[in-house]
Amino acid sequence: MVQAKPKKPLPLIEPETQAFWEAAKRHEFTLQKCQNCGAYYFPATDCNKCSSPKMEWVQASGKGKVFTFITMHQLYHPSFEGEIPYNVSIIELAEGPFMMSNVVDIPADDVKIGMPVEVVFEDVNDEVAMPRFKPAK
Ligand SMILES: [Zn+2]
Repeated sequence: MVQAKPKKPLPLIEPETQAFWEAAKRHEFTLQKCQNCGAYYFPATDCNKCSSPKMEWVQASGKGKVFTFITMHQLYHPSFEGEIPYNVSIIELAEGPFMMSNVVDIPADDVKIGMPVEVVFEDVNDEVAMPRFKPAK
């Protein structure tokens, strides 16, 4: 009997990030922006720069660059079977915040530090679309 491949772990959607995941479901990439000084966050309750609590979710560019990455050669979770090697990357977003994700659409060995990337969304199920990043054109 063929067993269904186990599902990948899903993000924990908390009140602070609910708006982000709702936008992601519509394939919209959002960040929180301080309404006082304009700094961007993912996410924050108060601004680290000016301490303002006036934060608002806004549309972001979805662009950034690879800050650093690792390549996974070991199978740590059965849901990743057949996808090794894959990368786990820290993306430095154009607006400033850093985000952990994966660079997709290219072989893991081709991921480079400083590579310009842009967001793409992978519909994991009816509730969750995961932001990944592909090389920018
Ligand atoms: Zn601020």
